[in-house]
Amino acid sequence: MRVGMYYSNKDVRVEQKPVPKIGPGEVLVKIHASGICGSDLMEWYRANRVPVVLGHEVAGEIVEAGEGVEGFKVGDRVSVTHHVPCLNCHYCRTGHETTCDTLRRTNFDPGGFCEFVRLPAINVQLGVVRLPDGVSYEEGSMVEPVGCVVRGLRLARFRPGLTVLVMGTGASGLLYVNVAFVLGAGRVFGVDLSPMRLEAARTFGAISTFEAEDGVPARLRSMNEGRLADLVILCAGAPEAIAQSHRCVERGGTVLFSAPCNGNQPVSLPFNDLFWRNEITLTSTYGSAPADSNEALALIRSGRLHLKNMITHRLGLGEIGKGFRLALEARDALKVMIEPQR
Ligand SMILES: [Zn+2]
Ligand SMILES: [Zn+2]
Repeated sequence: MRVGMYYSNKDVRVEQKPVPKIGPGEVLVKIHASGICGSDLMEWYRANRVPVVLGHEVAGEIVEAGEGVEGFKVGDRVSVTHHVPCLNCHYCRTGHETTCDTLRRTNFDPGGFCEFVRLPAINVQLGVVRLPDGVSYEEGSMVEPVGCVVRGLRLARFRPGLTVLVMGTGASGLLYVNVAFVLGAGRVFGVDLSPMRLEAARTFGAISTFEAEDGVPARLRSMNEGRLADLVILCAGAPEAIAQSHRCVERGGTVLFSAPCNGNQPVSLPFNDLFWRNEITLTSTYGSAPADSNEALALIRSGRLHLKNMITHRLGLGEIGKGFRLALEARDALKVMIEPQR
């Protein structure tokens, strides 16, 4: 079969690999839709694992089921996740499933940017959701990224009525804009460097958007009854964005870090401005767990999210290098979808 082999952001090659052989409890999925995620472009994070087949936003059809597989059969249309938690360890039992050692160890084989993927037994048990008839493969491939967003909103204690500021309105930020809007945020605002992405944010539910260096706190106040944002969601890892997030959060509010800092440098905090008398919470989210996938699928199935309009490019596997280029340049690309069967 053909696979998209990642060497670096600018070097993703189409190579041949045997179709994986499945064992007892495992299934083989023929991949129909596989989205490029912003994290696929984090070269510094991937550098010591290359060459590797990336891709973790995956939907397809079960074409083989091993002995003893329960609950799924050949012909089922499914969305599958790469990492799954054990649901039994200290971290899982305290609601932090995405920090579980099992989640860090598990993966499907060889990845999402190829024609067929093998799911180990634990992935079959915990990392597969069946797609209802009305949900397409490309919508199904967005169960994982939407799952990350519903998890983030839950950990940040999102409630209807809050004013939400999303910093960085690429594919993940736009999902935050759209999901927060659909779930009843009072006002949603977006900040980015790209006019195209800001325009997209307005389409997906932001009432107003600001360019990153644009006096954001003052403009927020002017459009939000004198207040800053109750919830600031950071989908960009630039140190300047992290510093700006502190200036944009209202008393009693929360800053949610949904992206890593570029590199791992220390970041300084205006400690008293944030914590003394102001009760500001800084928190983080990582990935998604089985319950998040179910919640994401329910939202997608409701038809209220504007996922179709988020997909700007649909490319065959042979064009995966171009897909990475488009996603990296981010000039007119939001979500780039790879369709491995063409
Ligand atoms: Zn992702
Ligand atoms: Zn666990």
